Amino acid sequence: PQPKKQEEKGPHAIDGVKWVVPVASGKGGVGKSTVAVNLAMALSSQGLKVGILDLDLYGPSVPMMLGVTGVQPDAVGDKIAPIMAHGLKAMSVGFLIKADTALIWRGPLVMKAVRQLLHEVAWAPLDVLILDLPPGTGDVQISMAQEVPITGAVVVTTPQDVALTDAIKGVDMFRQVNAPLMGIVENMSYFNCPDCGSRHEIFGHGSVKPLCEKLGVPYLGEIPLDPTLRQLADLGQPKTVLESPAGEPYRELAKKVMA
Ligand code: ADP
Repeated sequence: PQPKKQEEKGPHAIDGVKWVVPVASGKGGVGKSTVAVNLAMALSSQGLKVGILDLDLYGPSVPMMLGVTGVQPDAVGDKIAPIMAHGLKAMSVGFLIKADTALIWRGPLVMKAVRQLLHEVAWAPLDVLILDLPPGTGDVQISMAQEVPITGAVVVTTPQDVALTDAIKGVDMFRQVNAPLMGIVENMSYFNCPDCGSRHEIFGHGSVKPLCEKLGVPYLGEIPLDPTLRQLADLGQPKTVLESPAGEPYRELAKKVMA
């Protein structure tokens, strides 16, 4: 057998990257990837150098949301070059595997993939690297915490009870791995109906703020349900989102993350 290569143990900073901000959620479908991509765009519009790493190994959606599916990254020296999209440096397992391939990730492989995506991609120089985590708590989250010091995590939830229970688990997970939390965002908070002009609180609005107070975690604000947001995400046009009224909550969120 080959002698084992000496690997750096414990969390260590990514060369040339100042902040690492994971975006997490307790369950799928609450808008975690949407927040990750639009927050990255909003930070970039503030003049920061921003990268986005899609660590959702089981369902990578960042390539689609950035409109760069099917591209293949090049190598630079002994590292992988990130894909440039809308001013962001982006990397995803989605770039490295064939589309529609069902991936089965065993524990040790997860750890290796997370390490490579964090430390063997030519990220530098970056002010902030946003991580789009898989939903829930699992191997990817544990590997992330073992590989890199976290600046602060953003947890996304909807105001529904079940999503809230999952959000509490998410908060608890970051505490267990000693990673600081920036706070919780309430997504799909309400819907301003363009036809009738009234506001509908589809999943029940406003339950996240009191939860934050109870948990002693900062509340990062609310994002309404907005059909144009979904359409533009599917089309891979985050710039249009940011420049439209739908981008306002993300611009606000970016200010809080930078504060
Ligand atoms: P997750 O990463 O939590 O699984 P996604 O970000 O993929 O969730 O979002 C799930 C779906 O909901 C996507 O189609 C996305 O465009 C849509 N979506 C997310 N947030 C909103 C919102 N505030 N308004 C409308 N659609 C949204």
